[in-house]
Amino acid sequence: MKELTVIGGGLAGTEAAWQAAELGVPVRLYEMRPGTPTPAHDTPWLAELVCSNSLGSDLPHKAPGLLKAELRGLGSLILDCAAQTAVPAGSSLAVDREAFAQLVTERIAAHPLITLVHEEVTALPDGPTVVATGPLTSPALAEVIAGLSGRDYLYFYDAVSPIVQAETVDMAIAFRQSRYDRGEQEEGDYINCPMTREEYEAFTDALLAAETIVLKQFEREDPHFFEGCMPVEALARRGREALAFGPMRPVGLIDPRTGQRPYAVVQLRQDNLIGTLYNLVGFQTNLKWPDQKRVLRLIPGLAQAEFVRYGMMHRNTYVNAPALLQPTLQYRNRADLFFAGQIVGVEGYVGNAGTGLLAGVNAARLLTGGHPLILPPATMLGALCHYVTHAAAKEFQPMKANFGILPPLPPRPGKQDNGRLYADRALTALRRFAREHGLRYDQDNAHAKTQSTPSS
Ligand SMILES: Cc1cc2nc3c(=O)[nH]c(=O)nc-3n(C[C@H](O)[C@H](O)[C@H](O)COP(=O)(O)OP(=O)(O)OC[C@H]3O[C@@H](n4cnc5c(N)ncnc54)[C@H](O)[C@@H]3O)c2cc1C
Repeated sequence: MKELTVIGGGLAGTEAAWQAAELGVPVRLYEMRPGTPTPAHDTPWLAELVCSNSLGSDLPHKAPGLLKAELRGLGSLILDCAAQTAVPAGSSLAVDREAFAQLVTERIAAHPLITLVHEEVTALPDGPTVVATGPLTSPALAEVIAGLSGRDYLYFYDAVSPIVQAETVDMAIAFRQSRYDRGEQEEGDYINCPMTREEYEAFTDALLAAETIVLKQFEREDPHFFEGCMPVEALARRGREALAFGPMRPVGLIDPRTGQRPYAVVQLRQDNLIGTLYNLVGFQTNLKWPDQKRVLRLIPGLAQAEFVRYGMMHRNTYVNAPALLQPTLQYRNRADLFFAGQIVGVEGYVGNAGTGLLAGVNAARLLTGGHPLILPPATMLGALCHYVTHAAAKEFQPMKANFGILPPLPPRPGKQDNGRLYADRALTALRRFAREHGLRYDQDNAHAKTQSTPSS
C-alpha cells in the first residue's frame, strides 16, 4: 500500500497520522523541530501546546464541549492523551502541558505503522499528503504553498474583527440598511449601530483607556504584520475623529428613528450564510478580551451582545480555504493533497485536532479504495469544515467552534436550553452518519467526561 506523508507533528498532524495508521495505512510523519525551531515552540515534543494549557470547556452543552464529545466518539488520540494528563480545571479540560506532549510523542513513536522523521519539509511530495504545519509554517514551505495556491490565497497573520450572535443585537436601536441603499437585500445588507456625538466620545475614551495585548517579539518584527490593517484602537490614537472618518463613518446612512444621519456608525456585516453571525466591520483589535467585551458593549444596540469570537491580531499562516479546499479537506485541484489544522483557518487546539482527524481518516479512505467523507453540518466538526470551505472567500478569517455555525434549530415555543438541543442533534447525526459510512464511533466514549478521569 502507498505511504501517507503527514507534514507537521502538531495537534492536527499527530491526529491525522494516528487515524490513518489506525486504519492500516503506513504513515511517514515529518516534524522539523527540534532541528528547525519555530518562534513559539520550546520543546522537541510533538503536539506542544504553545500557549495556554487549557483545551476549553468540557461541558457537553457548550460548543467546545460538544466538539470534544464528537472527537472522543471518533477515537481522537489528542483527547485520549488529554484525558490521561488532565489537571483540575473546573468545567474545562486542561492538561499538564509537558506530560501531554510527551505522551502524544510516545504513542506516535510506538505505533508500528508510523515512521517519525525530524526534518523540515521544503517541497510538497507527489504522493498522498496531509499538510498540517500550523500557524508558524516554516517560511520555505509557506513559499511552496503560496506557489501552489497563488500568493493572494495565503495569509501570514490574523486581523480578526469580533463576531456577535445576530439574535443578541438590539434591533430597537440598531437598524438594517446599506449605504445609499445600495445593498443586495431589500431591507439592507448591514446592521448599523448608530451613535450620537456624546456616545461616540464616550466610546472613544473607553477604547483609548482599554488594555491591549502585548505582541510577541516575532510578531512586532514580522513585515507582514500590520500591512494594510490597523487595530481600531491604534487608529483611535491617531486623532479623536479618526474613527468617525474611518470604519465608523456614517455616510449614506439615515437612522430611521431620527430621520437623520448619525454622528458615527458601527456596521455589522453578515458572517455566515444562514445569517446567525455578524462581524463588526473594520474592528480588528488587540484589546484584551474582558476589556473588549466591556468596551464593545458600549456600542448602542450591543449592550447585551454575545460575542462568539473576539477580535485579535497575531501571526498566523493559513490558506484561503473557501477558495482552495473541499469540506473533505482535500485541495480542490489535487485529490490526494489534504490540509488540516490551523492552516485551514480553524482556531483552537481541539478544532485543529478535529480537522487532523478528518484529514487522516479521509486520506486513509482514499488510499484504501473508499471515498473521502463530508461530515454532517449539524455536527460541530462538520460545521467547522463546512464554515471554512464555504465562507466568503474575499474576507475569509479563521473560525473556532461555536453554535452560530450550526444550522439553526427549528423554532419552538417556550424557553429551551439550545446548547443541549444542539448537542443532542449533533451526536445523533454523527452516530447515524458513522453507522452509514463505516466510520469508527464509540457512543459511550463520546459521553465520557474528562473531569471524571483521574490525571496520571
Ligand atoms: C503564539 C501562539 C499562541 C497560541 N495560543 C493558543 C492558545 O492559547 N489556545 C489555542 O487553542 N490555540 C493557540 N494558538 C493556536 C495554536 O497554534 C493552534 O490551536 C494549534 O497548535 C494548531 O495546531 P496545528 O497542528 O495546526 O499547528 P501546530 O500545533 O503549530 O503544529 C504544526 C507543527 O508543524 C511543524 N512544522 C512547521 N513547518 C514545518 C515544515 N516545513 N516541515 C516539518 N514540520 C513543520 C511545527 O514545528 C509544528 O510542530 C496559538 C498560536 C500561536 C502562534
